Amino acid sequence: MKRFIGILLTITMLALVSFLGSAFSQGQSELANPHKIVHRLRGDQDLDKNKEAHPNNAKPQRGNGINYHGGPVILGGTNVYYIWYGNWSGNSATSILTDFAGHSPYFNINTTYYDGAGTDVSNIVLYKGQTIDNYSHGTSLSDSAIQAVVSSAITSGALPKDTNGVYFVLTSADVTASSGFCTQYCGWHTRGTIAGSDIKYSFVGNPDRCPSACEAQTVGPNGNAGADGMASIIAHELEEATTDPDLNAWYDVRGQENADKCAWTFGTTYTVNGARANMKLGTRDYLIQRNWVNASGGYCSLTYP
Ligand SMILES: [Zn+2]
Repeated sequence: MKRFIGILLTITMLALVSFLGSAFSQGQSELANPHKIVHRLRGDQDLDKNKEAHPNNAKPQRGNGINYHGGPVILGGTNVYYIWYGNWSGNSATSILTDFAGHSPYFNINTTYYDGAGTDVSNIVLYKGQTIDNYSHGTSLSDSAIQAVVSSAITSGALPKDTNGVYFVLTSADVTASSGFCTQYCGWHTRGTIAGSDIKYSFVGNPDRCPSACEAQTVGPNGNAGADGMASIIAHELEEATTDPDLNAWYDVRGQENADKCAWTFGTTYTVNGARANMKLGTRDYLIQRNWVNASGGYCSLTYP
């Protein structure tokens, strides 16, 4: 009898554990990742949006309107990888967004950031590769689905595993991110442990889905409002992922990272193809939002020095 009860108890426990296990993992896949740093919508003036996602370290080292919290920065150059999710065939985005890496007076702003040893970020952005994901997780991506997209691009060998890399999941206009693309944010970046390594990745959706929330203008200097709008979001996420890759390096007392402090501001502009632009990167003109210079008291700028 005792033995029978023991077996019964074991079976019940096993059933309970497996039930809880599946309930937990199911819940997990629907939960939003609280540790992601979001790019606020165009009209959103809430500057405290990323406060919760940043742990409040006791003694940050003071910078110029932005503080250092002891974590790593990406040193020696940042590598860019694109994962084209959904349907991008025939869309000029695939050339507009691959042309803007390299050295630039703009990315040089990030060299005003450094790590705990005092080593500065380098003015190097290398475009290293791309792959296509043909709707592996449907047209509405949860935060965990976005990490899964990055994870399978790496574990399948489509993209190399690179701890100096930032992997961008770029979704076509028929795809959304269920934790709030177009309603809470225009993009975000975070980190995850993928194949045993600290991998930095970002979500940037096509803002043609919600021009009033996520595009600075409904025309683009390269004739593609969605892709031209994405260029500005990608640049913003790239410099944040470089200076705050693990969400414990550079941000201010309100939880804003460098580019957050200058979001949706563009400085002096000129006109190209009937659209505003403010810088030339490679052979193309772009309208890219400003970034925070961590020198001389701190300020938003398009260039450094
Ligand atoms: Zn941001």
